[in-house]
Amino acid sequence: MIFREWIAALPKVELHLHLEGAIPYDALWRLVEKYGGDEELPSVEALRGRLEYRDFPHFIETWIWKNQFIREYDDFEMIAEAVAADLAQQNVCYAEAFYSPRDFAKTGLTLSEITRAMRRGLDKVAEIEVALVADLIRDFGPDSAAQALDELREVRDQGVIGIGIGGSEQDFPPEPFAAVYDRARCFGFRTNAHAGEAAGPASVWGAIRTLQVDRIGHGTRAVEDAELLDYLSETGTPIELCPISNVCTGVIQSIGEHPIGEYLRRGLTVCINTDDPKMFHNTLVDEFDQLRTHHDVTTEQTKALLESAIESSWMAADAKIARLSQLRTHEMWNVEPT
Ligand SMILES: [Zn+2]
Repeated sequence: MIFREWIAALPKVELHLHLEGAIPYDALWRLVEKYGGDEELPSVEALRGRLEYRDFPHFIETWIWKNQFIREYDDFEMIAEAVAADLAQQNVCYAEAFYSPRDFAKTGLTLSEITRAMRRGLDKVAEIEVALVADLIRDFGPDSAAQALDELREVRDQGVIGIGIGGSEQDFPPEPFAAVYDRARCFGFRTNAHAGEAAGPASVWGAIRTLQVDRIGHGTRAVEDAELLDYLSETGTPIELCPISNVCTGVIQSIGEHPIGEYLRRGLTVCINTDDPKMFHNTLVDEFDQLRTHHDVTTEQTKALLESAIESSWMAADAKIARLSQLRTHEMWNVEPT
């Protein structure tokens, strides 16, 4: 049994995945055609080719460009179903997925109806459970985030379990969002923040001390601060690592440079994620395969990373036990891949 087949067969959990960055190419192409296309986009292959980045700001620019093809509630339902089906086909059984409804506010679409449309689409795929995490988008500032949070409260019954801030971390530090995070906790939401991706350790400290997040998104550049690594190790704060994403956006130059080796040695709580898999052309299988190749991550460590994703999730305690049992009793669990 080769490693890629082994990891593909096992049930997997994703905790850092953006729904609008995970749209299968044929589904996104359907939207490009629906809205009259783009002269520079003659084919689905050209669309795929457009999804390459010089650096992190260029990635954000491309993200915004891509979103122009999502315009109606039906589009959200369609992409949500397509993403869920694509993940289920890869044996991803549970995901806590970001969606960014504020990106679409200027189109006149409301946060609540976008949320309901996403939920309708996700629920069409029985093989996977997807909980929603609203990205309040730091670029729009804390007032916009506070307003979005109030709207979000009304649709908690749509399986919205948490909030986070993504976007241009290098330009928008976490501290101004402290009150929004406090309020989110009062409403019962769990919290994370992109930190240590496009900015350095100070941003991770801000997410921890000021926002008091439950999890850190990326945390790649936490490696630059030994005191921070000690803190993360002592507290066991979960970090959602996204190694291939970090290469694609220029945070690191190659997978070999990713700090996962250091994090595992120090006993940090980490899990592996794809971030925006159709924008980075990656899968969870690719992520684990690359870590095995470039960081000598062993089979035992891979299994621990799969368990860590379940334990770091925001699912209920009994659901975690059930997911762990499903994983450990899988026919592949005790197979040693080559
Ligand atoms: Zn992300």
